[in-house]
Amino acid sequence: MPHRARPRIRRITAAGAVLAATMALVGGVKSGPAEAAVPPVHTQHVEYFPGPRSEPRQVTVPSDAPGRIVRRRSALAGTTPAVKAFQRTGPVSGRLDLVVMGDGYTEDEQGEFTADAEEKLDAIFGIEPYRSYRGLFNIWLVNTVSNESGVSGDPGADVVKDTALDSSFFCDGIERLLCVDTDEVAQYAGLAPDADIVFVVANSTKYGGAGYSAADLPMGSTFHGVATMSSDNDRSYLIGAHELGHSIGHLADEYQYTGYGTYPSAEEPATANLTIRRDLGATKWYRWLGAQDPSGSVVGTYEGGGYYEAGIYRPTETSIMRSLASTEFNVVGREAMIAGFYADADALTSSLPRSRPIGQGRPITVRLAPLSGLADLELTWYVDGRRVLSATGDLSVTPRELGVRGRGHKVTATVTDHTTAMRDPAIRAQAITSLTWTVR
Ligand SMILES: [Zn+2]
Repeated sequence: MPHRARPRIRRITAAGAVLAATMALVGGVKSGPAEAAVPPVHTQHVEYFPGPRSEPRQVTVPSDAPGRIVRRRSALAGTTPAVKAFQRTGPVSGRLDLVVMGDGYTEDEQGEFTADAEEKLDAIFGIEPYRSYRGLFNIWLVNTVSNESGVSGDPGADVVKDTALDSSFFCDGIERLLCVDTDEVAQYAGLAPDADIVFVVANSTKYGGAGYSAADLPMGSTFHGVATMSSDNDRSYLIGAHELGHSIGHLADEYQYTGYGTYPSAEEPATANLTIRRDLGATKWYRWLGAQDPSGSVVGTYEGGGYYEAGIYRPTETSIMRSLASTEFNVVGREAMIAGFYADADALTSSLPRSRPIGQGRPITVRLAPLSGLADLELTWYVDGRRVLSATGDLSVTPRELGVRGRGHKVTATVTDHTTAMRDPAIRAQAITSLTWTVR
C-alpha cells in the first residue's frame, strides 16, 4: 500500500478525545476551544472486498461521511460501555491485544453481539497460523450500544440507521464497502486495556467489510489497523483474516490490476511476499521454493502482485493475500505472520521483577503461552550462560535448585520456537524470548 501523509492534525487520546468530540459535535465550533473543532474532511484509503470470493481493491473515500450520518453526538458521551476479556492469555505487554466491537446492536442485542463476535473469532482463528498462535492474543470485547438495530445501507442505499460507529454499506457509493467512523472506533478502542488491532462487527447479514491501515487512522491511535466485517455472512471473516495479514505480518497485497503494467521501481519491496528478483535463488523466499503450499500450488515465482501485472513476483498462484477465494496464507505469509506475532508478543512471561536481584531460594515462575499445532516451544534455563535445564511447560524453580551457589550469578529462562513454519534463521532468532534475573 503506498505511503500517504497524515492530513489530520487533531490528536486523539482516550479521555481527551471523548471530551473534544463531544464538545465539537454537541457544542459546535462556537462554544468549544479551537482544537475541539469538527475535524476537517480528509480522505481515507481503504481496502474493499467486492465479493465473498473475489480479489480485494483499494479505494479512497471521504472520512467525514461513511454513510448518511444521522447522529450528531458521540455515542460515548455520558456512558461507559462494558469491556470484557473474551480471552486473556497473558499480560498486555506480552500479548497482541485484539479489540472487537459491534455496531448496530442495541442494548437488548448485546448478547447477540457476543455470540456473533465469538463466531467470527472462531472462524478467523481456524486459519493457520492464527490457529496455532491464538495463545499469543488477548481478545477484548467492547459493548458499543447503538440506538438502532442494523446498520446504514442494509438492505438498500437509502436505509439510514443511528449506530454507535456509523457503519455503512454503500460507502462512497460502493455497496459492499462497509465504512466506519474511525474517530469513534478509536475512542471505543481506548477503553480496552490495550489495543493492537481492532475489529468492527456490523450487525448485518449482507456481505461486506473494509480494511483501514495505520496511516489512515486518527493520530495517536495505538493500534495498527481496523477491519470491518458483517456479522451474519459466512465469508466476511476472511476480510479480518486478510487485514491482519497487513497489520501483523506486514504482508503486501498479492493481487494486481489490469492496466497497471510493470512495477515501476528498481528497489526490492520491503514486504516478505513480493520480490522483483525473478532469479529463483535470489528470491527472499528461496528457502521455500518447491514446497507444496497449503494454498494449493507449489512455491515459486508467480508474476503479478502489489497491484502491478509484471516485473514483480509473488510466492504462490493464490493465497488469502490475493483473493478471498483462498482461505489460506501461503507458507511465506505464514512465516511473516509468525514473525509478526513474536514482534508484538512473547511466548515467555513472568511476573517476577527482573529490576532487582533475587534470593537463591526465591522461586522463579515463568509461563509459556498456550500455543499448539505448528508451534513447538522449548524452555531452557541457563546459569551464567551455561545450559542447565530444559522443559516444555510452565515451570517454577529456584536459583539454588539450578545449582547456583553464591552471589552475582545470572539465571536466564529462554523460550525457543522450533516450528517448521519458520525457515529464516533471522526470523527464528527474533522469535526467541529470554528473561534474566541476577541472584544476590
Ligand atoms: Zn489487502
